[in-house]
Amino acid sequence: MSELFKKYYWYPPAETQIPWAVIFSGFSEQSESFSTALCRYLNVKHCVLGQSGRALLFRLLETLKSNKTEQRNEVLIPGYTCYSVAAAIAKAGLTITVYDLDPKTLYPDLDSLESAATDKTLAIIAQHLFGRRTPMDGLQRVAKANGAYLIEDSAQLLGRLPQGQNTGAMGDFGILSFGRGKPLPIGEGGALLSNDHPSIISTLPLPNSATGYIQPLVSSAVVKMMSKPFCYWLPEMLPLGLGETIFEPGFPIKNISETTERMASKGLPVLDTLNAHRLRLANLYSNRIDKQYRMSATEVLTSAIRYPVMLPIKTLTKSLKRLGVRRMYPNSIPTEKSIRPYLKIGAHATPGADEIADKLYTLPTHMAIDDTLSDEIATEINNAVAL
Ligand SMILES: *Cc1c(COP(=O)(O)O)cnc(C)c1O
Repeated sequence: MSELFKKYYWYPPAETQIPWAVIFSGFSEQSESFSTALCRYLNVKHCVLGQSGRALLFRLLETLKSNKTEQRNEVLIPGYTCYSVAAAIAKAGLTITVYDLDPKTLYPDLDSLESAATDKTLAIIAQHLFGRRTPMDGLQRVAKANGAYLIEDSAQLLGRLPQGQNTGAMGDFGILSFGRGKPLPIGEGGALLSNDHPSIISTLPLPNSATGYIQPLVSSAVVKMMSKPFCYWLPEMLPLGLGETIFEPGFPIKNISETTERMASKGLPVLDTLNAHRLRLANLYSNRIDKQYRMSATEVLTSAIRYPVMLPIKTLTKSLKRLGVRRMYPNSIPTEKSIRPYLKIGAHATPGADEIADKLYTLPTHMAIDDTLSDEIATEINNAVAL
């Protein structure tokens, strides 16, 4: 397409596409199950698959709740996280409680975590927003001291880590997601990982999906075609789940479909390529954007699905939106009205999470963004904050 049209291009905020060969593999015979391939890739013992990360999280929480004899009915989550996490807790009939995050790193505020964890805490959920690996030692210590399970929400972190550490296996259980915009964006699907707890794992498999053979495949193909820069304005208007975040505890509890599983098997080898590109763009942004707007230097990026910045601006210009710059979740968990009925009364304040909700914007790092575009985005950001 000619230069003339470039200024009408729309880019998604995160990766929505997988290669055609991966989509067509939905039709083909599978040589090895996806859970086996995933266990090997991450070097973990158990992988249970499901239609979504939240369905598996719900099932896990339900099992943990029925196993504990004491009155443990609270799940402690980050004050700024995906609303699906809150939805899984609400669906399991448990109470949501929160710990704060440091807006300079997006990592847990350990003082807040320590004071929010009690003998009522069933589980603590850790997260790795935008593939930035959260240090797990503080979380492990607090979980242990309070007799709570540690669940690592690794929906945004999936990739090869330095030796000895595995995504999703640094707590008792790990959760992965293969939805759009996630590290491996198959379109749907999730996994639950563990190196431990075989008796709990054996209760987790979900009822088989009634989804037809063809539906996940067609939906991946449509999203792929619609994600081209000259038509992305269209899916932006449609409910594909990339642009909006809603709290919805009414989600289905199903197993992964066979078609999705085949696509995921075929897609797994592509992950390292996607991650290498994301990391390179994240480094380009780091070089171009002023330090005061970036996360502080300790960042360990693996699957940088988006690049986070904290900006003192109120709205995005149309051209930044067009280039794929977006906000993430609109509110912190305690300030989101739809979640409040499920939040513990007297839950801790989360000023850090509130600040993140207020100032966080994300820059795209997916394959359709090249060096020139990333430069354009960084320049526009620098202009926006200078106004
Ligand atoms: C996407 C996401 C989830 C939920 O995964 P689904 O597969 O969409 O249910 C949970 N936590 C985080 C941080 C996420 O980004």
